Order: sequence, then C-alpha cells, then structure tokens
Amino acid sequence: MIGFGSIGRGTLPLIERHIAHDPARMVVIAPDDAGRELLDERGIKFVKMALTRDNYAEVLKPYLTAGSGQGFLINLSVEVSSVALVQLCHEANALYIDTCIEPWPGFYTDTSLSVSQRSNYALRESMLDLRRKLKSGPSAITTCGANPGMVSWLVKQALLNIARDCNIAHEPPQSREDWARLMQACGVKGIHIAECDTQRARMPKPRGVFVNTWSVEGFVSEGLQPAELGFGTHEKALPPEGRRHDFGPDCAIYLLRPGAGTRVRSWTPTAQAQHGFLITHNEAISIADYFSLREAGKITYAPTCHYAYHPAADAVLSLDEMAGAQWQRQSASHILGESEIIDGIDELGVLLYGHAKNAYWYGSQLSVEETRQLAPYQNATGLQVTSAVLAGMVWALENPKAGILEADELDFRRCLEVQRPYLGPVTGHYTDWTPLQGRGGLFPEDMDTSDPWQFSNVIVR
Ligand code: NAD
Repeated sequence: MIGFGSIGRGTLPLIERHIAHDPARMVVIAPDDAGRELLDERGIKFVKMALTRDNYAEVLKPYLTAGSGQGFLINLSVEVSSVALVQLCHEANALYIDTCIEPWPGFYTDTSLSVSQRSNYALRESMLDLRRKLKSGPSAITTCGANPGMVSWLVKQALLNIARDCNIAHEPPQSREDWARLMQACGVKGIHIAECDTQRARMPKPRGVFVNTWSVEGFVSEGLQPAELGFGTHEKALPPEGRRHDFGPDCAIYLLRPGAGTRVRSWTPTAQAQHGFLITHNEAISIADYFSLREAGKITYAPTCHYAYHPAADAVLSLDEMAGAQWQRQSASHILGESEIIDGIDELGVLLYGHAKNAYWYGSQLSVEETRQLAPYQNATGLQVTSAVLAGMVWALENPKAGILEADELDFRRCLEVQRPYLGPVTGHYTDWTPLQGRGGLFPEDMDTSDPWQFSNVIVR
C-alpha cells in the first residue's frame, strides 16, 4: 500500500475483514509516520520513504514480485504518478488499484502547461494512452473510490430505476452502447455528482488551517485545476469561459477558472437546493464518455456530467480563506477524524435530470455515528471511499486479467453488493426542483426558460 493517510488507514480494516492475507507479506510505504502504530501492532512492515520519479521502480519491484503468487499495489497516496505505477505493475504482473489519477509533484501548478494540459481530461487521456499501448495485462483499476468510483455504479442503478418508473421498455443493458442508448431513451440530459457533507467538528476551525474530511492535499490540488464538465449534446452553447480540448474523445470541456472558485446550483435530499463547487473529477469525464453515442466518430448523444460538491462547513470556510489569499494555501492542514466530529452525514449521490420525472437523486446518506459502528479509523466520507476500494479490489481478484479499467467498466452490481453494507441508507428521491426554481425575483437574471437544464442556468455567475 502506498500512502497511509485518511483513506489508507480506513482501507486497512476492510482488507483485514474481507480479504484473506498474510500481514507478514504486507508493506506500507509513506513519507510520514502518521498512523504507524496501527501497522506495528499488526506486524505489517512500514517503509518511511517518499516515492519519486527516480526511486519508485527500484523500491517497489522487489515487493511486487517477492514470494509466490501475484502482487497487489494499492495506491492511496498523493504526488506519485498513477500512470508510472500502472506501467510498473504491468511489468511485474501485479494487480493495481487507485482512487484518483495522480501525477508527479508540480503538475497541478505548472504554468508552462496550458490550462487544457493541466486538466483531469489530460490526466485521464494519459492513462488511456497507456491502455492503448499495453492492450491487455493484469487488472489495474483506476479511479475507484467514492467519486470517482462508486458514483459510476450508482448512475447505472439510478438509470434502471428511472427506466422502471417511467415505463421505458428495454432489454437488460449488456454493453457500454446499450447503457448509453438506455440513458438516451430515458431522456436524461445530464448528471450531477451531488454531494452534501454535513459533518460538523467539535472544535471550531482555527484561522490559517485548511480543515477537511479527507485529503487536504488532494482537495486543494483538484480545486485549483480548471473546472471541468462532461458537455452534453442538449447544451445549446459553450459557456463564455468554456473551451474544448484539441485531443481525446471531446466529451468534456474546461472553464478558464478554478473549480474551487466555481459554484453550481444543484440538489440533494438534505440540502434541497444548494450551491456546490464545480470541482473537476475524473468521473465527470468518464461518465460522459461511457454514456456517449457516436456516428462516424461524431458524438450524437452524451449527457452533461459534473461534480456539485458542498463540502463540510469547515472545508467551505477553508476554501473561502484560501480564495481570499489569492489561492495561496494555508500553511497548516487537518483532516477531521471520526472522534472529532459531533454529527452529520456525507450525502453523496447522483442527480439524473431532464427525463419525464424531471430529476432523480440516488445515493448514500452515511452518518458519522453509523460509520463508527461499521468500521474503525475513518469518518463517513472515508468509509464511502474505502468500501469502494474494497469493492474494486474484490472485483480485481475475481477478474485478474482484465487490463486497465475505469470504475464505469466494472460489474456495478457486484461492486455495490460488496460495498452496500458500508453505505448507510441508500435511497432514491424524485424532485421537481430545477435550477430555475425560485429565481428571477429581486434582480434581472439572464435565464434560458425554454430549457431549465441548460448549464447556463446551472452555473452561478
Ligand atoms: P492524505 O493526504 O490523508 O494521505 C496521503 C498519503 O500519501 C499520506 O500517507 C502521505 O504520506 C502519502 N504520500 C505523500 N507523498 C508521497 C510519496 N511521494 N510517496 C508515497 N506516499 C506519499 O490523503 P487521503 O485522504 O488518504 O487520500 C489519498 C488519495 O485518495 C488522494 O489521491 C485523494 O485524492 C484520493 N481520494 C479519492 C477519493 C475518491 O472518492 N475517489 C476520495 C478521497 C480521497
């Protein structure tokens, strides 16, 4: 396991519980000692070291090939290139999983790269390039956390529920094209990854500290990337700050502004209407790509897809403080542990909109109280992620020769079956909310009333 932060520490007890293993053959590598006692008390080897471009192959290869059987690299770190690790696992015939396509350090803030080159779209293409080059090999599951990850499985279940409730006759989808055709037949115009994290800390956030419910490093990095969205075929016009990439599948666009400074109107059951941050994520691009239909290479149907994230209150305050400092990150950071949180839930789901019943949210409403009962060393956000890592690992062990895959391409039923005990209530809600609801009262606003679900109505200007 590379990295032993909030997600690594939370994944460990799930592996212990569900996957037969020999602790004496497990190795954890991280540059800091946080949580080390958990490893020492289990007899798991800990290597205190930062992996770099220069040392990663030399350090990892012996561990991945030692003894009999097949190695499994669980990458839960930041600042280590996922593409480099997948290539190495291919050479060592080891299985691989991560929750994010990470680059080597410096990528996110390298101003010599164009905004397009600094995007998640570009990171995803770099992994897909490797897949095109390697063609086959040991299973390497990329971007398999809660989101990206679990939400791709939730989209499929939500779509089946909508088809049932709207009486859309269909055969059980077997292929990617079948899924895309079903989404088109249901009239889905787009999808928000709609999240509302209400976990509240016991102690108020101190000034000058970035507080979050998961990796501060990860959140700040992606927050400073351009806002990105899968750009659906129902959209009438590119947003004023929107740009297309000049490579890849052309299913997504980017905005000339950071996601951490971009708000979108969205809906979750607890928040009802809310402003979320349009933080870029792999799933915004992979879901739009997965559910697209093409003729002669040209997209004929695709949904809009993006994140609409309302983080925990302390993280919103942290972002506000950081934005005020011209996006210079606070010098200190803190991830809230389960014992520091008084109450709250991470409500993480998918909002499929534009169909006959308007909009449907489907997702997990996991509370911190229930999390404490279910598994140690993590808050509700963590458990949604670590249980998805577990599901992806189980799938890889059951399908060890599938090559490089995104979460969208795994068997969603099997993955949700493994993950379900850790998700708290999983519920579906129809709503008549649209991004036009309740607007236009006090000030003139430029709205497209002919189609509430245009992105121009969703983005907060
Ligand atoms: P964290 O910041 O708590 O921990 C990161 C870990 O990486 C730490 O142990 C750190 O020491 C280690 N690390 C840093 N540099 C390293 C290096 N050079 N070599 C080896 N290890 C190094 O982060 P976290 O909350 O545990 O998140 C881990 C990863 O999971 C991040 O990439 C994050 O973006 C991702 N994540 C994904 C989801 C999802 O739903 N898909 C959710 C949460 C986090």
